[in-house]
Formats: sequence, C-alpha cells, structure tokens
Amino acid sequence: MSDCLFCKMAEGTIRPDVVYETDRVLAFRDINPQAKSHVLVIPKAHIPTLDDLPPEAPELAAELFKAVQEVARCEGLSETGYRTVINCRGDGGQEVYHLHLHVLGGRRVGWPPG
Ligand code: 5GP
Ligand code: ZN
Repeated sequence: MSDCLFCKMAEGTIRPDVVYETDRVLAFRDINPQAKSHVLVIPKAHIPTLDDLPPEAPELAAELFKAVQEVARCEGLSETGYRTVINCRGDGGQEVYHLHLHVLGGRRVGWPPG
C-alpha cells in the first residue's frame, strides 16, 4: 500500500535499522524504543491488523513467530526473557495499521499493561 509507512519499509523506500529479514518478513528497531531492545516484526505484505492475518495461510504466522525467536536470539534476550505484544485497533493501542509484533527486552516489563 503506497501510503503505508511499514509497506515503505518492506519495499525499501524507507530503510529502517534492520535486525532480521526473510523474503516475507522484516524486523527493525522501533524509532521510539520502550525498552533497551525494542524491535518490530512485520509481514512484508500489507496486512492491517491481527484480525486480517489469513487463517488459511498459517505458515505466515509461523514465520512471524520464528522471526521473533531469531530477534530474541540476536538481541541476547533468549535467556533473560522478553515481551511480545500485538496491539489490535483502538482499544489495543494500535497506531500503525500494518500488522507488527513488538519484541521488548533488556528490562523487566510490568503486568498488567496500563
Ligand atoms: P503500535 O502502537 O501501532 O502497536 O506501534 C507502532 C510502533 O511503530 C510504535 O512503537 C512507534 O514507535 C513505531 N514507529 C512509528 N513510526 C516509526 C518509524 O518511522 N520508524 C520506526 N522504526 N518505528 C516507527
Ligand atoms: Zn502496509
């Protein structure tokens, strides 16, 4: 989608600080990190929200979670732990309508969310 920020990153029009990449998935550092390590994992295809992830293509969901594991390993978070978050629409706090998984680590994060 031409007016989508994360599509521009997936297409390479805007180049973020990339941590991990495959043909279908991209992981890059959040511009406003909420922890020492804060990485966003996105599908390269434009999928607006978690509800739009096609259930008939479970391999994309698997690839997104594999990317989270790879990011955690690259960032040195596998042992200390990390938080993975998907915000969905208004009450979920979603601001960018291109599906993304937040990977937060490097500090103890609180629960429940505010
Ligand atoms: P959401 O609130 O939609 O779950 O998260 C959107 C995230 O995208 C926020 O954490 C925000 O800091 C991040 N973000 C917004 N604009 C940019 C940008 O231009 N570059 C990067 N790397 N991250 C961005
Ligand atoms: Zn998009």
